[in-house]
Amino acid sequence: MVMKLEKYSFGTGDRFGLQGSAQLAAIQKASEEGIDIAIVWNKSFREHTIVGTTQRDVRSEAETAIQSAGWRGGYYVDADHIGLDNVDQFIDHSDFFTLDVADFIGQKAPEEDLRLFVHSLSSYTGSMTIAGLQEPLTVSTDQLRSIGEKYLLAIQKAATIYRYITSKKAEKAFITEVSMDETEEAQTPQDLFFILAAIAEYKIPLQTIAPKFTGRFNKGVDYQGDVEQFNRQFNDDVCVIRHAVEHFGLPENLKLSVHSGSDKFSIYPGIRNALQTHDAGVHVKTAGTTWLEELIGLSESGDDALGLVKQIYRAAYGRYSELCAPYASVIDIDQALLPDPGIVDSWDGMHLARALRHDQQCADYDPYIRQLLHVSYKVAAELTTYYTEAITDNKVVIATHVSENLYKRHLKPLFL
Ligand SMILES: [Zn+2]
Repeated sequence: MVMKLEKYSFGTGDRFGLQGSAQLAAIQKASEEGIDIAIVWNKSFREHTIVGTTQRDVRSEAETAIQSAGWRGGYYVDADHIGLDNVDQFIDHSDFFTLDVADFIGQKAPEEDLRLFVHSLSSYTGSMTIAGLQEPLTVSTDQLRSIGEKYLLAIQKAATIYRYITSKKAEKAFITEVSMDETEEAQTPQDLFFILAAIAEYKIPLQTIAPKFTGRFNKGVDYQGDVEQFNRQFNDDVCVIRHAVEHFGLPENLKLSVHSGSDKFSIYPGIRNALQTHDAGVHVKTAGTTWLEELIGLSESGDDALGLVKQIYRAAYGRYSELCAPYASVIDIDQALLPDPGIVDSWDGMHLARALRHDQQCADYDPYIRQLLHVSYKVAAELTTYYTEAITDNKVVIATHVSENLYKRHLKPLFL
């Protein structure tokens, strides 16, 4: 049985699992405006470990939101960034699997397999014209070999995980994504072409692929890098995918997946343009942008709720190294510029909300506070019901912010 991911899909992570309906409301609004987007609730093993949740919780959040809204569009539960060592606990409750093989990039596959890789793809060396690219792709045999050395083992690992999930899921259908984004070096359109060739060779029916794009995708803040260069690369990747689908018999709905895709406002016009030009689809994955809206809603609510946000900031400030270390490659904080917790304590709720809200026109917006709190959900998780009761008590204002953030700042510029 085949499960086919829709042309547009949007991954909404939800740290504490209480904003499912508010997130779905944004997707529903887009649907009312005429754009169908499938909603995907994604959660990684790392997130589950820090928050103390399981994938069963994500499934039940999704089902509850879907039922209470009467949503008839596509929806999925994504086992995000999983590997062979932690996939078991996701199998029963997920129908979307993001196979993370970034750790294997740069490790060499067995020599025999490498030789086969180069041999079977040698007809693509030299110059290759791909519709939509400004210049032909050129790859020498040596370059092909080094692409194999870099990526073949990772693809073999993806095939192993894919087959393992297939064996466990029996007849049940699921969607497969392969992610290579959590690595230092970006993949070029050339790399992507040969990665897809090998993925087809290993018969992984992937529907989305998350490459590492050029530039930095810091958590919760705008894209850092050369926007023009990104736009060109994104456009080229879209064209390479189309070409690879035709040549290698990959699923015809195969599309790019943009990880850490929330808040990347400066590249949304380029993404939108490429999608429209080539009539292509995309998956955009977000996570912590919703938890920041919870903090904004709490700040605006004042009193104890505001006090709680200040308490979380104070703890995060004091535990900077511990909280930032796991996210070092995806945040850019000038620690010296973080305000002292004593100063933040003197702010009223609206001031703290303005500091947190991702509005680059606002003089009070502070990308350092925003990024620090983005990675500090562990502090809130440790507060257990003290935190979840606060967001439940203030759910109306929070839900408005969660929906508005997704709809106005994300879905609208990307799709509408
Ligand atoms: Zn990712």
